[in-house]
Amino acid sequence: MTQRPLPPAILRPEDDDHPKEECGLFGIYGMPDAATHAVLGLHALQHRGQEAAGIVAYDGEQFHSHRALGLVGDNFNSPETMARLAGHVAIGHVRYSTTGDTILRNVQPLFADFKFGGLAIAHNGNLTNAYQIRKELVQRGCIFQSTSDTETIIHLIAISEYGRVVDRLTDALSQIVGAYSLVAITQKKLIGVRDPCGVRPLVLGRLGDAWMLASETCALDIIGGKFVRDVEPGEIVVIDDKGLHSLKPFNKAPHRFCIFEYIYFARPDSVMEGRNVYEARKSIGAELARESHIPADVVVPVPDSGVPAAIGYSQQAGVPFEFGIVRNHYVGRTFIEPTDQIRHLGVRLKHNANAFGLKGKRVVLVDDSIVRGTTSMKIVDMVRNAGAKEVHMRISSPPTTHSCFYGIDTPQRDELFAAQYDVAAMARHINVDTLAFLSIDGLYRALGEARRRGDLPQYCDACFTGEYPIPLVDHDKDPVQRQLSLLDERE
Ligand code: AMP
Repeated sequence: MTQRPLPPAILRPEDDDHPKEECGLFGIYGMPDAATHAVLGLHALQHRGQEAAGIVAYDGEQFHSHRALGLVGDNFNSPETMARLAGHVAIGHVRYSTTGDTILRNVQPLFADFKFGGLAIAHNGNLTNAYQIRKELVQRGCIFQSTSDTETIIHLIAISEYGRVVDRLTDALSQIVGAYSLVAITQKKLIGVRDPCGVRPLVLGRLGDAWMLASETCALDIIGGKFVRDVEPGEIVVIDDKGLHSLKPFNKAPHRFCIFEYIYFARPDSVMEGRNVYEARKSIGAELARESHIPADVVVPVPDSGVPAAIGYSQQAGVPFEFGIVRNHYVGRTFIEPTDQIRHLGVRLKHNANAFGLKGKRVVLVDDSIVRGTTSMKIVDMVRNAGAKEVHMRISSPPTTHSCFYGIDTPQRDELFAAQYDVAAMARHINVDTLAFLSIDGLYRALGEARRRGDLPQYCDACFTGEYPIPLVDHDKDPVQRQLSLLDERE
């Protein structure tokens, strides 16, 4: 079968350090060795970003920071580093940025000295008007150290006319449009915020008398912490020596949690918005089987992300589950490798077909999503070479037809497989006998919900529908101009 080549990845100038990020956050207050706990928390969140990690701790007198490119385990493994990060309060961040260089000055948490004292801040998500605000701030004389959109918040805090730090932060965030969760520390407080739509996750936990904030509950589990609750959309939680205070200063907005966290992004042992991610993925897989099962001998997941959905599929369809593809765990997520060439290489490095479970079989292959289509092509090729008689690909999400502007890294629209081809053409390109995606209504059914409450979808599902709940200010305002301006700034 001839396959039309996919469009090559375009190295865009702004990709150099594109503000779009996938990230994990951790914060802890009231714990001796706070930074050591932060290291463990970030280790549990490593799946949310593998390119850089950072921690800022406060010891009652001074802030201490260590930020570096690479994995948590590689950067926070020396007694000297940990000894420097003394203190009872700490926040940490793991980061992934898109194609191109990740530069150290963009690694979070960012730290700044204000007239009220020091503040360190880290965020997960994407501010959709950061570039517009940055332009205005630069015109007013602000000098930016990084190209990270987090720094926009820092400048807005610095120029705020309010006195108290929480009021300054609120003032700054009320000018920000976007999807974000953030954690911050000052000399006296640990602060956590979720944007008014609650697109990105943030949970609150306790460990003895200490308070914790984390992107996912798995980061509380690793240190034996107790989950207290999700930080609510639009909520600011402030933790200090008087305990926890909650503020809701923003205009109320409809809750639109990211549905892709359930499909792919979160760790399966996390509980998000009251729902165990593994259980959600299994019921998504079962719904996929109800919608599109075809007679087969084995159900084979594309590991690891396809595993829970494949278990649900196999149980629902009554077809045996087999590990027909084995994954090498010592290679990072292929999608996260910075260049297209490596991504192609990476897929082969990462997966191998296990002929034992495939030879002569009618195989249902289950994966969570198709983005560029690269993974599916390689996997199907392997499975066929291993002797499968038929290959039926089942995807536990609807076709990804739109880019995410809210903190999940997806390529530009013209690089998305499902934005270029219909299902039949995709099936031909990846060389399967049949291909089916879960329907958008099926996805909501699997989560026990109807898609819309009133007029609005219950989750942010823009990557599947193009219905963006938060205005894309920067993107809508002449993206070409934006690229040029960024280039100019770097010269
Ligand atoms: P692709 O080869 O581009 O089609 O990538 C599809 C694979 O990447 C699927 O197996 C997913 O598990 C995984 N994936 C989907 N979305 C993302 C993402 N935002 N970041 C990293 N990996 C992803």
